[in-house]
Amino acid sequence: MTRPLLNRRLAEFGTTIFAEMSALAARTGSINLGQGFPDTDGPEEVREAAVRALRDGHGNQYPPGPGVPELRTAIADHQRDRYGLEYDPDTEVLVTAGATEAIAASLLALVEPGDEVIALEPYYDSYAACVAMAGGTRVPVTLRPHEGRYVLDLDELRAAVTPRTRLILLNTPHNPTGTVLTRAELTAVAELAVERDLLVVTDEVYEHLVFDDAEHLPIASLPGMRERTVTIGSAGKTYSFTGWKVGWTTASPALTTAVRSAKQFLTYVSSGPFQYAVAEALRLPDAYYAGLRADLQAKRDLLGDGLAEAGFAVYRPRGTYFVTTDIRPLGTGDGFAFCRALPERAGVVAIPNAVFYDHREAGAPFVRFAFCKRTEVLQEAVDRLKRLG
Ligand SMILES: *Cc1c(COP(=O)(O)O)cnc(C)c1O
Repeated sequence: MTRPLLNRRLAEFGTTIFAEMSALAARTGSINLGQGFPDTDGPEEVREAAVRALRDGHGNQYPPGPGVPELRTAIADHQRDRYGLEYDPDTEVLVTAGATEAIAASLLALVEPGDEVIALEPYYDSYAACVAMAGGTRVPVTLRPHEGRYVLDLDELRAAVTPRTRLILLNTPHNPTGTVLTRAELTAVAELAVERDLLVVTDEVYEHLVFDDAEHLPIASLPGMRERTVTIGSAGKTYSFTGWKVGWTTASPALTTAVRSAKQFLTYVSSGPFQYAVAEALRLPDAYYAGLRADLQAKRDLLGDGLAEAGFAVYRPRGTYFVTTDIRPLGTGDGFAFCRALPERAGVVAIPNAVFYDHREAGAPFVRFAFCKRTEVLQEAVDRLKRLG
């Protein structure tokens, strides 16, 4: 067979780094701070709600295409109560197989071959693949470290827009840098989108994981944005059930219909009983979110301080459960080689941020660690990393 099996659109996307690094973690018995999933499950009452749904026969057969009404209503209530954003559960809310499917369906629905899609670099790995599957061209705009925080260069963003630009793919709070876009940054993005008549797809799966005085602001709440924005959420990160794969979009009826057109031929539906459980999770009291934030902020500080003591330069995240470090103070600028050697050297697995960049050199010296792990696991990782120097 002379023709490669994997088509041209996907040829550049081999196995994800997470598979390689998780295999390395298993082989070397290392602590895996690579992939971002919690090592404890979410609230007991939410788990029980899923068991109850299964037993009571709720969602064991195909749920409705847009998602079960209980969940769509809970999502709409969440957006209204938290952000003052009103969405009609019947025409403006769509339940998806995690945020991953919401991203894929949005891009497959809204992007024509040849369209350009602007994404903030470093970006979540599925963005590039989904833009490619849609036949679009990705145009990265690089977030750069400045005074301890990754910032969006608004001139660079403005310069990236061309007549072929269809949409801006945003992510805030931002994985992997931990940046939470400010009101000023989001306002500038919104003004640009309105001026150039662009759509915005915004991945807000870390909306509840913000620290210190950071505040999450959905861009859909800014003037002129509601009708041009698809907002993506997920239960995975907020409730520590990443295996359930319950995500959603909120958007105008026209955008929702478009995204649903693609979604119905991807999974059609998913996660039946879990949809009922997530409807209950969305009604947890504020104390749940405060507890989640306090817990993760303490873990951020434990890992961040430990990494700093071990010699890394640390970008203290204001959101998400990842911390990005610069390894140059440790005497190397090659994050790939560093991460491949780290399991043998220190018994810890991390991810080289370069995999999240088109401009690989721009990401070369940065390495990402996840801190959504039990305190004793993080403490052990810190102890091991301190022996590096
Ligand atoms: C984890 C993650 C997702 C995927 O969410 P699922 O609901 O598990 O599909 C999407 N975007 C970002 C930025 C993530 O970190």
